[in-house]
Amino acid sequence: MDGDSNQRGECFFIETLALYLLMASFMASLLPLGTCSGNKTPFQEFSSYLLSIGVPGHEIQFLLDAGSSRSANTKHVFARDLKMVLMSHWHLDHTRWIGTLVRNLADRGRKEPLPILCNSKTKFFLELLIRLKNKFLVPPFVLFSIDSLPRRRRGFQHLNGETPNRRYVFHLGTSNHCILTIKTRYAYHSKDGLAYRLNFHLSGNDGTGSRHLSVVYSPDTHYNSTHLTKFAMNADYWLLDTTYNDDLLLENIDKYGGLLTHSSATRSALLCKAARVKHYIAGHYFWKRYGSTPARARCSIERAASNIFDGTVIAPRDLHEIPLHFS
Ligand SMILES: [Zn+2]
Repeated sequence: MDGDSNQRGECFFIETLALYLLMASFMASLLPLGTCSGNKTPFQEFSSYLLSIGVPGHEIQFLLDAGSSRSANTKHVFARDLKMVLMSHWHLDHTRWIGTLVRNLADRGRKEPLPILCNSKTKFFLELLIRLKNKFLVPPFVLFSIDSLPRRRRGFQHLNGETPNRRYVFHLGTSNHCILTIKTRYAYHSKDGLAYRLNFHLSGNDGTGSRHLSVVYSPDTHYNSTHLTKFAMNADYWLLDTTYNDDLLLENIDKYGGLLTHSSATRSALLCKAARVKHYIAGHYFWKRYGSTPARARCSIERAASNIFDGTVIAPRDLHEIPLHFS
């Protein structure tokens, strides 16, 4: 009897250890392919981020904007792993490389549908950019998924629309899967910005355990976007506009009555605080506005935001991967 119960104990221990290792192997990261707000330098490419999630050997990728030449580079973006492209708006510092990316995927024999999430105006530009690089055709694997928000007028009117959740299931090898729900909302930026909330739920097929991760992406966002705080509420990460320093922001409010549609580290920190997110990723900045060197600029962004926001502040660097922690 003792031998039996010892054996059962060992089995239980091994099963628990195996489960722990399985659970511990879920991973997620964000690779900044370009962090810049529009004045490209050797240290900063235009806007694009690559979110990877999964288990070793079975990672899937989501491209957030394609303004950086690196977003078309198959050294970073893998034809087999890329599951979706999410476009915040049509501006070229966010879309310029979509045509080359699609061509490179086609050259590598991509057949699996690639959803590109955007609004209808952005779709018009993306199609044009794709045709220019693909013999005037849009390859059949490109699948536009257009947001269904009601048409909005100038300013903050009609900002409360929210799309129904889109739901996707991805298999990570044979024993794990990822359920992703995506919500979309207006991000006030040149009347055409979208903010995305990605809620990931990772679990083993045997139902033994799961991990959650929520990431909000709104790289170009008006400094007063309080309507987004409910949308981002309690998210793990919010990648949020950090285009201006405070002096420049005030100058623009003076000159343009607050109509310019960007934010600063301190204003974004206030939004993150109100939304009670855990981590603020200071996206879309131009380092020369924040310090005499890129490193000093990142320090000053982190210091300014940390004075207001209690969570972690991350000023990203091009090609320096950010590990994302599950909640
Ligand atoms: Zn931009």
